[in-house]
Amino acid sequence: MTDQRANLTVLGCSPSWQNTGEACSSYLVEAAGTRLLIDCGNGAFAQLREHSDYATIDAIAITHTHGDHVLDLLPFAYALLYSPRALRGELNRPLLLLPPTAHERMRSIFALIDRAELLDDAYEVREYEPAEPIQVGSLVLEFAEVPHFVPVHAVSVRTSEGGRFVFGADHRPCDEIVDFARGADLLMLEATLMQPETGIRGHMTSEEAAEIAQSAGVTRLVLTHMSDELPREELLAQAKAVHANTVLAAAADEYRF
Ligand SMILES: [Zn+2]
Ligand SMILES: [Zn+2]
Repeated sequence: MTDQRANLTVLGCSPSWQNTGEACSSYLVEAAGTRLLIDCGNGAFAQLREHSDYATIDAIAITHTHGDHVLDLLPFAYALLYSPRALRGELNRPLLLLPPTAHERMRSIFALIDRAELLDDAYEVREYEPAEPIQVGSLVLEFAEVPHFVPVHAVSVRTSEGGRFVFGADHRPCDEIVDFARGADLLMLEATLMQPETGIRGHMTSEEAAEIAQSAGVTRLVLTHMSDELPREELLAQAKAVHANTVLAAAADEYRF
């Protein structure tokens, strides 16, 4: 019997500056004819092209408007508007799901670099509401606000086969993500820090991420958003001591859920 589960491909798993040879946050979900991109950080569009035809992406869900999660929406927009296929009228506008109030912020970013109109010309833009699940092809998306330095929403992706993936995006340790992740088949959390920050917190250590996976009762944990300038094996071992079934994301890794 063939595996009907969805496939998650890591396109970029760097923190806010790129690891050597890697892009910033971006993850491709493919399931039953539906293709969803979660975040589109700097470097992600080139990695998307390594794996997939950008014209086949149905929707892009953005967790927050920090640069490492959105900057490659610009080259993606250029491709959707000015590539040979675009000029022949062969491309559709993918759905761009933005956090509440982010539409105007993204228009401002596009305006600073080029023109604000590029955003809505390239994408069918919609701001999601955390309370409202959104159907994208065969997938159901849900969002939950988590605490970071700017508004961030964790994303849950549920397949028609009953599989569920939760991506926390960027956040400090919190109960919100524990509640949201409960029952997920696969949980991906940031592990940005070597030590907890002093002052206002916005990120987590690998150990803190593992504690969330334990509290939520999730079997498989993938750590991401970790610099290659940190002692990654040591930080992974610290996480595994708390939650044994933990791996560290690398570019082009694939997971089923
Ligand atoms: Zn980030
Ligand atoms: Zn961030």
